[in-house]
Amino acid sequence: MSEMYVDGMMQGPAGRLSMAEMSRQIKVVATQWGAVDVGISTLASLAGGPPSTDLSYVMDDARAAITFVIPLDDEAIRKYLAKEDRVAHQKDQNVTNTLASGIAAQAASYLEQFGARAKAVMANNVYREGEGVRYVNQFPDISHRYLAVASGLGWFGFSGNVLTPEYGPNVIFATTVTDAPLLADEPLRDEDNYCDDCQACNASCPSGFFRYGTKEKENLTMNGRDFNYAKRRAYARCSYVCAGYNGVHPNGRWSTWSPARFPIPKNDKELKTAYKRAIPAMQERSMPGGGHSTSAMAFGFNGDDLWTSCGNCSLVCHPEREERDRRIKTLHTSGAVVQHEDGRLEAMPGDEAKAFVAAMPPERRRAYEFVEEEELAE
Ligand code: SF4
Ligand code: SF4
Repeated sequence: MSEMYVDGMMQGPAGRLSMAEMSRQIKVVATQWGAVDVGISTLASLAGGPPSTDLSYVMDDARAAITFVIPLDDEAIRKYLAKEDRVAHQKDQNVTNTLASGIAAQAASYLEQFGARAKAVMANNVYREGEGVRYVNQFPDISHRYLAVASGLGWFGFSGNVLTPEYGPNVIFATTVTDAPLLADEPLRDEDNYCDDCQACNASCPSGFFRYGTKEKENLTMNGRDFNYAKRRAYARCSYVCAGYNGVHPNGRWSTWSPARFPIPKNDKELKTAYKRAIPAMQERSMPGGGHSTSAMAFGFNGDDLWTSCGNCSLVCHPEREERDRRIKTLHTSGAVVQHEDGRLEAMPGDEAKAFVAAMPPERRRAYEFVEEEELAE
């Protein structure tokens, strides 16, 4: 900890403030920059949490973390779920992530000017280095999700997404880690959590990531308080769909925004083989004219940026039950996406989408579904 913190005060070129004053002021300025809520967690409030609550990974002597909430655009989400417009939500994702990361960087600078050490943790797409870290199996520097719950910004929903009281899980978080011993905020009360196990998130997921339903739970403890959410299957299962290797739901009636039709294995052990089949096809598909989601690790692996095609488990969830019901109905009647030769995506009824792909010549079709070698040789 900096030697500046004498008698609970911080002091730097900008002046001298108590920890209580800075804990209030950093929220005031972050709100000016665009955050709709701000929460502070500390070593004590994160004690006993999962490895990605370890603030020392980001900064030696870290004492506190400030997490910022930036909402996504609801209208763009509704059009995305209805398969009316993918790009508006993609652009909103990109801009909101950048704004969140920018707020975290500005907060770090603000703290430094009062004598603290501080470091921004980007909203997304930064991962721990080291043994075993590879594409589709990355761990974040810290988890904004756990910090958000510990600092009272939201509750875990059944899905494990963090549900904020006003925007549900449809927000972007970013965090500033500091050595200043700021004052922690309390987690929200469990009894106020709006999650009623409606299962819209489960029903929105083609990959079966939450297949255990309400019975089995992931449990964790922070500062002596227990939290839980639905037990998840292999993370590679979500990535297989969320990154766009496959889009169509096993029932064939609707899809994500990915036009790929590779089968989703029932058994997690078969995922590796499924990826081997789906990766070359992914590398043949491209999305012309912008609307991409940038990730250095994905570009390094695929030689191309990804494009947002799922996120459904978050997007269907809303604090109001009627809106959740509307969103899941919209998704289930939105059709299955196909890709035209010019790259354009179009949603159509599931049987028409299947026939559309089946009518392609094998050399083109193999970008969307598995084609036997013999067919290609004919
Ligand atoms: S969609 Fe329903 S079950 Fe899932 S997290 Fe939201 S409220 Fe909970
Ligand atoms: S992002 Fe998509 S594939 Fe991943 S868990 Fe959510 S709904 Fe399922």
